[in-house]
Amino acid sequence: MRIDVVTIFPEYLEPLKVSLVGKARAAGRLDVRVHDLRDWAHDRHNTVDDTPYGGGPGMVMMTGPWGEALDDTLAAGYEAGAGGPALVVPTPSGRPFTQEVAAELSAHPWLIFAPARYEGIDSRVTAEYRTRMPVHEVSIGDYVLAGGEAAVLVITEAVARLLPGVLGNAQSHRDDSFASGAMANLLEGPVFTKPPQWRGRGIPEVLLSGHHGKIARWRRDEALRRTVANRPDLVRRCDPAVFDRRDREM
Ligand code: SAM
Repeated sequence: MRIDVVTIFPEYLEPLKVSLVGKARAAGRLDVRVHDLRDWAHDRHNTVDDTPYGGGPGMVMMTGPWGEALDDTLAAGYEAGAGGPALVVPTPSGRPFTQEVAAELSAHPWLIFAPARYEGIDSRVTAEYRTRMPVHEVSIGDYVLAGGEAAVLVITEAVARLLPGVLGNAQSHRDDSFASGAMANLLEGPVFTKPPQWRGRGIPEVLLSGHHGKIARWRRDEALRRTVANRPDLVRRCDPAVFDRRDREM
């Protein structure tokens, strides 16, 4: 997958050089390029924002630098052989970013991120690129950040771990919270590792039993218990057929 990020704070994206995303880049599974939007500004102050039409506080990012930056980014990507771009615009007014959206984004071979600052980007920019490619406006939560760069880090990491070969064990993300399949809509339950005793605390006997059926049932019960406690909204979305009499008595 190719990822381009256009931002006024390229240094904010430095974490994309470490850990899982950094390794995926080193292994050639992810090609990440970060661009400074101010390279497409034309005055001596490198201005990329202006006052909002209609008045009001704050500034709005201008069409000019964004249009030129996105055109050049697209041209460079096509020239390098990339295809199938999709534009990702982080915004608190976007569609909530979920595991399902992460999976959707991971199916695109090329993502171009347009994280904004100030009051956001002039809306004509997304309208323009929507005529050329899929545009995903996504929110990483019901709160307002100062800029979209942190959202790019979040989205990139969630997408990267779904790419083939990026996780050492592909099974890991199938067992995660929010995964599809048998545990759909259930959060992951508690996990344990060695030593078997720590400060007088042991681990559930069943995990030492070697009985795969019982372990699977225990994990599912714990997942359900945690989901009921922390995210009852998710339980309501579960297929009623997955519950049995024992669950109702839980
Ligand atoms: N005036 C905007 C509004 O109320 O929707 C908020 C602008 S915010 C100060 C500046 C930028 O930060 C946004 O354009 C977006 O790129 C990013 N941002 C802030 N909160 C976000 C969130 N919850 N999810 C994704 N991006 C966010």
